[in-house]
Amino acid sequence: MPASAPFAESVLNSVFGLTSYRGRQEEIVRHVTNGGNCLVLMPTGGGKSLCYQLPALLRDGCGIVVSPLIALMRDQVSGLLEAGVNAAVLNSTLSPQEAGEVERRLIAGDLDLLYVAPERLLTPRCLSLLAQANIALFAIDEAHCVSQWGHDFRPEYIGLSVLAERFPDVPRIALTATADALTRKEIAERLQLVEAPCFVASFDRPNIRYEIVDKQNALTQLKGLIAERHSGEAGIVYCLSRAKVEDVAASLREAGIPALPYHAGLDAETRARHQDRFVNEDGVVIVATIAFGMGIDKPDVRFVAHLDLPKSIEAYYQETGRAGRDGKHSSAWMAYGLSDIVQQRRMIDESTASDAFKRVSIGKLDALVALAETAHCRRARLLAYFGEEPGRENCGNCDNCLNPPKVFDGRIVAQKLLSCVYRTGERFGAMHLIDVLTGRPTDKVTQFGHDKLSVFGIGGELNEKQWRAALRQLVALGHLRADSEAFGALKLTESSRGVLRGETEVWLREQTITPRNRAARAGSRQPTAKPNGGGSDPALHTALKAWRSDIARKRGVPAYVVLHDSTIDGIASVKPATLDELRGIAGIGDRKLERYGEELIALVRSSS
Ligand code: ADP
Ligand code: ZN
Repeated sequence: MPASAPFAESVLNSVFGLTSYRGRQEEIVRHVTNGGNCLVLMPTGGGKSLCYQLPALLRDGCGIVVSPLIALMRDQVSGLLEAGVNAAVLNSTLSPQEAGEVERRLIAGDLDLLYVAPERLLTPRCLSLLAQANIALFAIDEAHCVSQWGHDFRPEYIGLSVLAERFPDVPRIALTATADALTRKEIAERLQLVEAPCFVASFDRPNIRYEIVDKQNALTQLKGLIAERHSGEAGIVYCLSRAKVEDVAASLREAGIPALPYHAGLDAETRARHQDRFVNEDGVVIVATIAFGMGIDKPDVRFVAHLDLPKSIEAYYQETGRAGRDGKHSSAWMAYGLSDIVQQRRMIDESTASDAFKRVSIGKLDALVALAETAHCRRARLLAYFGEEPGRENCGNCDNCLNPPKVFDGRIVAQKLLSCVYRTGERFGAMHLIDVLTGRPTDKVTQFGHDKLSVFGIGGELNEKQWRAALRQLVALGHLRADSEAFGALKLTESSRGVLRGETEVWLREQTITPRNRAARAGSRQPTAKPNGGGSDPALHTALKAWRSDIARKRGVPAYVVLHDSTIDGIASVKPATLDELRGIAGIGDRKLERYGEELIALVRSSS
């Protein structure tokens, strides 16, 4: 039953309250509605859900959505119910009676969309249930979970290959925000989509400002960022260990910031409570290990901060991508130092993975370090990593574009450093090498007789911090390697020789501006558009938010399920006087108009 384009648009408008498609959505919706399989690669916040929700409504039968996380399913379903769509979930949170009722509705053709956990879907019972039902399509969300090389591998996703075998006539649409070639290939193979078209959206997230600063006192730097740019706003802070998560959360709370810890060591109930508060309340900061975030749909996360280095650019991109789904200005901020590289290397070396896996992991880490050390546009680098031509060389919204770092010819500096590594026997870490270079006769220096070496004190032109930065950059450039087995001792590499001989050019970035100033300077150029944007009425904006919190509490759903921030902004600036005018605002579909229209108009009227 191929639906006509005008009909599709009328549903887009009446159910989702949207006036037009975004990017490649229209093509995808048409393709799937006509029964085609496909793979969709779109960044977080790009609008993936619509690509299967709309075709599910346009086609006969129920759309089955495979989704790995219960929280994600719950929020998506509450959003759909709000919009008047017959949606349900089938997962382990339901009682047998509730599950039985959902199954009955599926068979009776009473459902438009059903969200199912993969392990549930693959049970013989569920497969035979699906065989009796009329199915519109299968949507496999977070499809990168089938990839064993990926960062979110879920063994149960492998079993999804059965869908193509058992239901060859039902269209399959696989969606992910992870786009590297290896993962893409694996998804296509495992889900039998090799012949199907792959729709790739741009991975650029123009509203996210990327910043990577030199780690001094990371916690103080983080508090500075929050105070200067994100006070009272929701954010996620990532740390590597549980202990650090607890420390950072406690320290932020002492500074008056409502911060909650989240890690696998907390009991399930505490974790759920913290996650709920983060999602439902305004301005909560969650401090978490990477266990947190996947499947969190909160659109108004204003900053994502990394206090430790992620494993790869994919992980960095995905974690930072949780900021600013609503398209408003957001920060992706990371503090990083040499010890982070050593720590990540150690984790790789000490893991029990195969050598091949370790090699891939090291390559991925190197790529991330290079991103952290680049003097060029971070966005251009990120996009290039995902195989995308950046539109411009200078994005104007990353630290390097806003405050271009000066680069200098670092050949001599590099030679001094590498000779120092060589003369001290490739057995020492950064601190000792810098002591030798700057001529500090510490106990360790004298004990090893390093004050007698020709390299002792030859590095007076840089201070300790600058040497540290130079050292890190040489690691990033591959002219030095931090040996995790030898407690972070720095060793020469293949390419060191060319540098020592003066044959290889070495350009280094100058470390003159302190990170703290940097954040502040970048902040001063932050476009001033605040949430309640141009021409909007602040009093009305506040009243609308209070009204929304109230409704959300009463209905037991997150505030953004009631109305998105952008819809609130729209109402506060348009100030609709009639239901018709209200209907023209993005995010107001038929159901919301019917449910909230009168109240919203009354609110607008009483505030003017
Ligand atoms: P993803 O799953 O790709 O992370 P979502 O499907 O959750 O993204 O969509 C992200 C946001 O974009 C949501 O707030 C959604 O309402 C909005 N959105 C999606 N499609 C459109 C569109 N065509 N026009 C305006 N907003 C849209
Ligand atoms: Zn840039």
